[in-house]
Amino acid sequence: MSERLVVIGGDAAGMSAASQARRLKSPQELEIVAFERGNFTSFSACGIPYWVGGDVAERDDLIARTPEEHRERSIDLRMRTEVVEIDARERRVRARDLASGAEEWTAYDKLVIATGARPLRPDLPGIDAPGVHGVQTLDDGQALLDTLTGTPGRRAVVIGAGYIGVEMAEALIGRGYEVTVVNRGKEPMSTLDPDMGRLVREAMTGMGITMVNDAEVTKILTADDGRARAVATEDREFPADVVVLGIGVRPETALARAAGLPLGEHGGLLTDLAMRVRGPVADGAIWAGGDCVEVLDLVSGRERHIALGTHANKHGQIIGSNVGGGYATFPGVVGTAVSKVCDLEIARTGLREKDARAAGLQYAAVTIESTSRAGYYPGAALMTVKMLAERRTGRLLGVQIVGREGAAKRVDVAAVALTARMTVEQMTALDLGYAPPFSPVWDPVLVAARKAVSAVRAGGA
Ligand SMILES: Cc1cc2nc3c(=O)[nH]c(=O)nc-3n(C[C@H](O)[C@H](O)[C@H](O)COP(=O)(O)OP(=O)(O)OC[C@H]3O[C@@H](n4cnc5c(N)ncnc54)[C@H](O)[C@@H]3O)c2cc1C
Repeated sequence: MSERLVVIGGDAAGMSAASQARRLKSPQELEIVAFERGNFTSFSACGIPYWVGGDVAERDDLIARTPEEHRERSIDLRMRTEVVEIDARERRVRARDLASGAEEWTAYDKLVIATGARPLRPDLPGIDAPGVHGVQTLDDGQALLDTLTGTPGRRAVVIGAGYIGVEMAEALIGRGYEVTVVNRGKEPMSTLDPDMGRLVREAMTGMGITMVNDAEVTKILTADDGRARAVATEDREFPADVVVLGIGVRPETALARAAGLPLGEHGGLLTDLAMRVRGPVADGAIWAGGDCVEVLDLVSGRERHIALGTHANKHGQIIGSNVGGGYATFPGVVGTAVSKVCDLEIARTGLREKDARAAGLQYAAVTIESTSRAGYYPGAALMTVKMLAERRTGRLLGVQIVGREGAAKRVDVAAVALTARMTVEQMTALDLGYAPPFSPVWDPVLVAARKAVSAVRAGGA
């Protein structure tokens, strides 16, 4: 007898799950119904800064699969349709057609919750004024581009200096704007330790971006025509022809909460290793993945909420395998993330100092400066690597890298070492590739590992 899989959310996690389930089960064996409240499916939000900045020419370049393509694969995808209730006891969802307002219940045998994350939008005067933009969806990106092309003026204020904020700063510079980044933290990129964040600030300032740290935005000031004209903090005003919000996200779990499903301390759904939602309410019939779940941090052993497309796609694949009758698990993450602002690459994996302290770990922290290529080779650029290792055991705990070309993907070596629970001593013997155009004879990661070994031996703090 045919079963029905219902998917809530038509982007990375949801449609990866649906597609993988379809690979494993025929339409006769498994009916798949997916609900998406927006206008697009399977799109890359990650590409929005590069589309806005002009590196990617077309919006459609960011769409991996259209609704029609999903339907051709026998996925009954219902666009502009929002699920407004999950009735886990009766195994059904109530969905609203956003055009007509009509509502209908759909029964499921298996349910996938892939509702993603909600961007933070502080409740400030002027926040909804024309000219203030989020960058979560392709519609957001288009609206921002319309403002950039349709509005005279060249001053942009970005609120927030996480990776989306810094990527949007680059995009706006690419469009010829004078950019100010207003940030609550002491330094940009709070996913780094402040000493590494300082390097990002200095580099961004060197690029002509005005960096305002330690500042709380209090309102968006509007002009007579109602458009945003400035961003105000407690003691200053920053004129703005366009304002971009990059303040962070929270798991979109209101539906799950209302259904009585278990949420963790960060508000994300809690799943087992197979991405099946825990607890009696889910009753083994509900899976969840992507930005709406919490994940196990393999280094600290704690649950965290990390909203990244790389995880969402993996979760979707794993869920699709499991609901399609196969078997797959998601062991957890080490917290690897990379981004860039102009030619500055920013990378991190594992624990920051404050994460290590919160996890009760004692550690040695070292920082080294090296170069991207052999010092004598043309184009060699400075790279700073910070490394944390556990005291006594020498286990690698985290790495942060800020530098030019080659900095970002170097962190992958550290991600592998963290996953393998390697010590910094073991890392020093890694057989990494070397030729002058690619690295110094001692790769910067190995130089940091050697220094970390010494610090651990010395009992470093
Ligand atoms: C500007 C930007 C840059 C980024 N850059 C990177 C990057 O470089 N690297 C990286 O790894 N990640 C990046 N990300 C994060 C990445 O895009 C997300 O982690 C990823 O999209 C999460 O996928 P998801 O399927 O879990 O959620 P989403 O992509 O948010 O999809 C959830 C979908 O569910 C729909 N939905 C929600 N509730 C309902 C409902 N009740 N009924 C019907 N539909 C519903 C939403 O409309 C949405 O389409 C970036 C994000 C942004 C915004």
